[in-house]
Amino acid sequence: MSQIKLPEDFVTYPEARKKAFMALKALKESGRRVVGTYCTYTPQELVDAADATPVSLCAIGEENIPPAEKVLPKNLCPLIKASFGGAVSDRCPFYYFSDMVLAETTCDGKKKMYEYLGKMKHTHVMQLPPGRTGEGALAFWKLEMEALRRDLENFYGITITDEKLRQAIKLRNRERKAILNYYEVGTLKPSPISGYELNTIITSNEYAFDIEKKIAFLEKRTAELIEKYHAECEGKPSRPRILISGCPTHGVIDKVIKRIEELGADVVGFENCCGPREKKDPVDETKDPITALAEKYLRVNCSVMSPNPGRLEALGEQIDDYKVDGVIEVVLMACHTYAIESSAVKEYVTKEKGIPFLSITTDYSTTDQGQIDTRLGAFIELLG
Ligand code: SF4
Ligand code: SF4
Repeated sequence: MSQIKLPEDFVTYPEARKKAFMALKALKESGRRVVGTYCTYTPQELVDAADATPVSLCAIGEENIPPAEKVLPKNLCPLIKASFGGAVSDRCPFYYFSDMVLAETTCDGKKKMYEYLGKMKHTHVMQLPPGRTGEGALAFWKLEMEALRRDLENFYGITITDEKLRQAIKLRNRERKAILNYYEVGTLKPSPISGYELNTIITSNEYAFDIEKKIAFLEKRTAELIEKYHAECEGKPSRPRILISGCPTHGVIDKVIKRIEELGADVVGFENCCGPREKKDPVDETKDPITALAEKYLRVNCSVMSPNPGRLEALGEQIDDYKVDGVIEVVLMACHTYAIESSAVKEYVTKEKGIPFLSITTDYSTTDQGQIDTRLGAFIELLG
């Protein structure tokens, strides 16, 4: 089994989270406001404009599941259970340090879980429209943005000005561009970076709380990788190129992403919430900020939306741009919306794009590693 070549200063995702605990503690002790968040639908700019730091509460780790199962049903997505388990058992320092929680009514499991979270800490739940195109969807979502603004103002006793919002939008758009450019290194063939490293850096960077420093780091690393491509990789043969689709993969990064590469293929892109999905779509800086935020965050291509045609369009673009040989979809156990969309995604990938597709359903345990390896190995062999 080949080993992935990683830089000497590489830090794994769990290690990055551990390091971030201390950074967040220091921030908190300096008097900084902290808002816990869960999802790509979260308008981070509103949190920034409240002079608060948004911190992701999406937990990983099998050890967080048993405390969750004391309250939640077993047949629930591991991401929801781990996030709830981490919060309820006080294992998640990010939850502990959050002044309040900001959540959205995405899938049924998450929105019902937030009802329990709301009993422990102030939890603002934004009501997400069930579809992006429904009549009144945008107007409703805009009201939700305004309600969040009011709640942040009341909670912290502050005023969030339009000027603050505009500054936050500009900064987050620059961050989006830096992340997108970094991900697009994966379009180079052969890729100068492993998908494992690519994904670990971005997911770990969610815990880099200084956005300017984060942008500078990503810009530097992107330039280094492009240089490496021209110096060492250009013109060399490529291993089969895989695009990951489906549920967020930060909880199964070792179990699936790393294994694909150890078994002989390159993960070059991610069409999920751990990838450039929303980074390609900046907030309009010319409009009234609340309208611009409502429009942008309603365009996220998540399976919780019905219908969700934007996902197939984005998938098609990524298959072409990243010169992909096969798509592997990761569905977290009991995630109904991604599981149901899977047939449509398979049909699109195999019939319209004409490349092989594999769907894997898994959770945060390691019990199915052997079975997953067998399926991944056979799929990669098929790609040649
Ligand atoms: S997959 Fe959907 S619900 Fe889950 S984090 Fe992404 S946008 Fe939110
Ligand atoms: S992976 Fe699916 S079930 Fe889990 S939180 Fe996201 S949308 Fe909900």
